[in-house]
Amino acid sequence: MTDNKKWEVVIGLEVHAQLSTETKIFCGCKSEYGAPANSRICPVCMGMPGVLPVLNRQSVEYGIKAGLAMNCEIASYSRFARKNYFYPDSPKGYQISQFEEPLCENGFINIGTDSNSKKIGITRIHLEEDAGKSMHEPNRPESKVDLNRAGVPLLEIVSEPDLRSPEESYEYLVKLKQLLRYLGISDCNMEEGSLRCDANISIRKPGDKKFGTKTELKNMNSFRGVEKALHAEIKRQIETLESGGTIVQVTNLWDESSGEIKQMRAKEGSDDYRYFPEPDLVPFTIDQKQINGIKENLPELPEKKMDRFVSEYKLKDEHALVLTASRGVAEYFEELTTITEDPKNSANWIMGNVSRVLNDAGISIDEFTVAPARLAELMKNVSDGSISISAARTVFDEMLTDESPVGSVIEKLGLKQMSDSSEIDKIVQEVIDSNPDEAERYKSGEAKLKGWFVGQIMKASHGKANPQIANESLDRLLNIDS
Ligand code: ADP
Ligand code: ZN
Ligand code: MG
Repeated sequence: MTDNKKWEVVIGLEVHAQLSTETKIFCGCKSEYGAPANSRICPVCMGMPGVLPVLNRQSVEYGIKAGLAMNCEIASYSRFARKNYFYPDSPKGYQISQFEEPLCENGFINIGTDSNSKKIGITRIHLEEDAGKSMHEPNRPESKVDLNRAGVPLLEIVSEPDLRSPEESYEYLVKLKQLLRYLGISDCNMEEGSLRCDANISIRKPGDKKFGTKTELKNMNSFRGVEKALHAEIKRQIETLESGGTIVQVTNLWDESSGEIKQMRAKEGSDDYRYFPEPDLVPFTIDQKQINGIKENLPELPEKKMDRFVSEYKLKDEHALVLTASRGVAEYFEELTTITEDPKNSANWIMGNVSRVLNDAGISIDEFTVAPARLAELMKNVSDGSISISAARTVFDEMLTDESPVGSVIEKLGLKQMSDSSEIDKIVQEVIDSNPDEAERYKSGEAKLKGWFVGQIMKASHGKANPQIANESLDRLLNIDS
């Protein structure tokens, strides 16, 4: 067993997020996911000679949004660079990226909770184009290339080596994804490849001033996968150093199915890419007015929203945290609360029944079919005594597929609570008449029989008697002062 306390872990993450712009970054092709292979391509993104790229303004705006949300300085002057390398899914033989003049620099995001938060530095955020996709079919000699993804805008977000554990790295990714989704600029779906993460990792003795040699990890396809791969690589590095070896700067591949790290290639230094300014695109400038305009239109971001939910709706911190985890849920909550004027109860419904349905179905709130107004209507039926709380859950589940008015759903399921006291009196009298002994004992002071009676009344009314009215009726009919 190796003792992890003897080593300090240092991690920096490079995240690539596909921007959800309508079209690609340097041509007019649609950048949608899942279209038939090579159906969203043109001479520009196919890398034909003689064509010229034209910068998609929206991708720049999206990049600025991300930079502002991550507390970066936004460049007033920025330009693209050619990163030269050969790969079959990149027909130009180079990638248009940014090198010396990135769009955003020197930012940070907070991870952890309010009382225990930590700043993780953002070194830079830059724009680049995605490559195509090579497809290697099993047992076939040839490979195929799909260029639909070539030229889709990517945001590369590089963190400082500020992360100190796989768990912190996981938290950082969750936070990053939350921000990008709040901004509405990326789906951040790791399975579909719209978010990719490379991890850089080294270890050193606590107190050392210098960082150790780092290795790079690729090919993780979930946030948990990143966490697991980092644990495996930490173990490997510790074992290497403790057995007298040295860490070599390499790029490794994570193999999810075996849970093993495989060496891919010796890491190339940045010189190998022969970066130079992209001659086909003019440098671009961004003035403060444009930045201010974008800033003014940023949505309220998670941390601010959470604080506001606590102060405005008097919610507990942990509830506000859950309700602001996604912008969609937060908006649903506010819409519901505006109608019900009952933040606490609205929060409970969302964290309870609504979350249960979302989790079970594996869907997001945007795909949830019960609109806030209908849920509010259901909640009103509970608060005015028309249905019991337990019946409300049954009605709610029915409303997922039955879009008729809430009242009709309740009617259909026969769950309307009996609240008419003369009707309830009749049932109570019957229960008393058929249990004379118990009635006598209850009258003469055996108070614990009350619960038993209410149970009998609920049974006789098939669960529909309003329990409070049934209670009153019982005591009234037996002449007991309650
Ligand atoms: P490279 O020259 O290999 O591209 P960079 O200095 O540009 O390296 O950093 C790339 C990423 O690696 C960044 O996210 C950075 O935080 C991280 N990083 C740099 N040095 C280390 C280190 N010694 N240990 C862990 N991560 C590191
Ligand atoms: Zn194109
Ligand atoms: Mg670098």
